[in-house]
Amino acid sequence: MSMTEKKWREELIATLQLESYQYDEPMYRYTSFRIGGPADLLIEAQTVDELARTVEYCQQVGVFWFLLGRGTNILVKDQGVRGVVLRLGKGFSSINVEGRRIKAGGAASLAAVAEQAARNNLTGLEFASGIPGSIGGALFMNAGAYGSEMQEVVLEAKVYRPGSGVIVLKKEELEFGYRFSRLQKEEGIILEVVLELNRGEEAQIRAKMAELNGRRKDKQPLEYPSAGSVFKRPKGKFAGQLIEEAGLKGKRVGNAQVSPKHAGFIVNIGNATAQEVLDLIELVRVEVHNQAGLWLEPEIRILGGE
Ligand SMILES: Cc1cc2nc3c(=O)[nH]c(=O)nc-3n(C[C@H](O)[C@H](O)[C@H](O)COP(=O)(O)OP(=O)(O)OC[C@H]3O[C@@H](n4cnc5c(N)ncnc54)[C@H](O)[C@@H]3O)c2cc1C
Repeated sequence: MSMTEKKWREELIATLQLESYQYDEPMYRYTSFRIGGPADLLIEAQTVDELARTVEYCQQVGVFWFLLGRGTNILVKDQGVRGVVLRLGKGFSSINVEGRRIKAGGAASLAAVAEQAARNNLTGLEFASGIPGSIGGALFMNAGAYGSEMQEVVLEAKVYRPGSGVIVLKKEELEFGYRFSRLQKEEGIILEVVLELNRGEEAQIRAKMAELNGRRKDKQPLEYPSAGSVFKRPKGKFAGQLIEEAGLKGKRVGNAQVSPKHAGFIVNIGNATAQEVLDLIELVRVEVHNQAGLWLEPEIRILGGE
């Protein structure tokens, strides 16, 4: 695409008078997979107002936008992203504890929130202390582990909805399901999340966190870049087990590999391309379908192209 075709970028920056932005920023720098081509424009919004003005401008002029969290559940294609990738700036990372409630900015890391919970003798978030990513991403995905999910601890979320502004959605309104929330079907940016936990004892909470994180380290290939489990769990089964039974543990396409340690993970063993990962995903789906008669559905979100 020529520069004139991307003139919208200069117009956007000038109209909104933004300061924190980059042109053609490689997305591999912002994803745990360490994969992804350049985004036309990457903007780090510092305030709700800046975020709102950017989104409304994009909607108005028809430029695609996408809100990226910590990039731990994302595969960005090699061609990158035509449009704007938005990130939440530092102002969105606060964590405040009031009684049994924790109020966290959408960009706060889930591990940091779990740490604050432990420090304040609050139990219920131990399961999440080893899940990478932001609390906004965790709410969007209804992230979970070891039999618990975000929906068990969420009270409400403050969301910016394009066209209507800031609204508060209560837990019931968030329509949680397995790795699903309402934000996946309606556009909205999670600005703040309020959790409600139970009183516990710090030593016990920390012991639980250490135990779960130890299990994670034993089972997961944390030494390689990845986006965690690639596929959703089919009803009553484990994706990793089906992949292993299909004989695909260690299977490679280029530098993308089904982890020999945990078949549910695809790892980047050295400058893998998004296409290699996508080809491996398809290969796994077809093989598992042949062997087990069901189609695995990706849990990871795929972004970009063209
Ligand atoms: C080693 C490893 C282990 C993992 N283990 C687990 C696990 O045990 N359980 C589990 O559930 N997941 C796990 N994951 C996946 C991932 O960590 C979670 O899905 C996480 O919650 C994603 O958060 P994020 O901020 O990185 O979101 P991103 O990957 O940046 O984005 C994911 C989606 O959320 C949306 N999103 C992010 N932030 C916001 C926001 N503020 N407002 C609106 N939308 C938003 C994005 O638009 C995107 O569609 C693992 C990943 C890795 C790499």
